[in-house]
Amino acid sequence: MKKNIKKSVKKNPSKKNMFDFRIGFGYDIHRMTEGRDLILGGYKINYPKGMLGHSDGDLIIHSVCDAILGALNEGEIGVYFPPTDLTLMGISSGVIAERVLEILKKRRAHINQIDVTLVAEEPKIKPYYEPIKKSLAKVFKIDENRVSFKAKSMEGLGEVGRGEAMICYAVAGVILK
Ligand SMILES: [Zn+2]
Repeated sequence: MKKNIKKSVKKNPSKKNMFDFRIGFGYDIHRMTEGRDLILGGYKINYPKGMLGHSDGDLIIHSVCDAILGALNEGEIGVYFPPTDLTLMGISSGVIAERVLEILKKRRAHINQIDVTLVAEEPKIKPYYEPIKKSLAKVFKIDENRVSFKAKSMEGLGEVGRGEAMICYAVAGVILK
């Protein structure tokens, strides 16, 4: 019986046109502090507080990178950029994204789409939807219509609600050749 099933799959002509579609999920949290730039998805926002972290603290790029690596089953950014590496102090997260794009290329894969939800209390993110979306498309070298970006607040609850941190969730769809 098993043999027959295998045979019928092999004979199915549509199988030839099927592609290998993978989905990955990423998450990141950064503490906010005064005297740091607020860079979200590669876009700089004028605000007195920014993200603490060994890079520029761009939690949107970090979570998208982790989602892509997750889709490829290639670990997470901490493997390639360990927090203990002091040379990474203050580096642009664009460098991290470049490395992830190299891994994609090596695996002959490309991004189908990314979907991002940022959880932040202040500043209000809605006015920055378009510029952040544009910036993400540029950083990850994909069409803008393949990038979804939105934000939620925590209704004043917890550390995010008190403006002490931001959280980001991301999903990436990747197609392998
Ligand atoms: Zn991070």
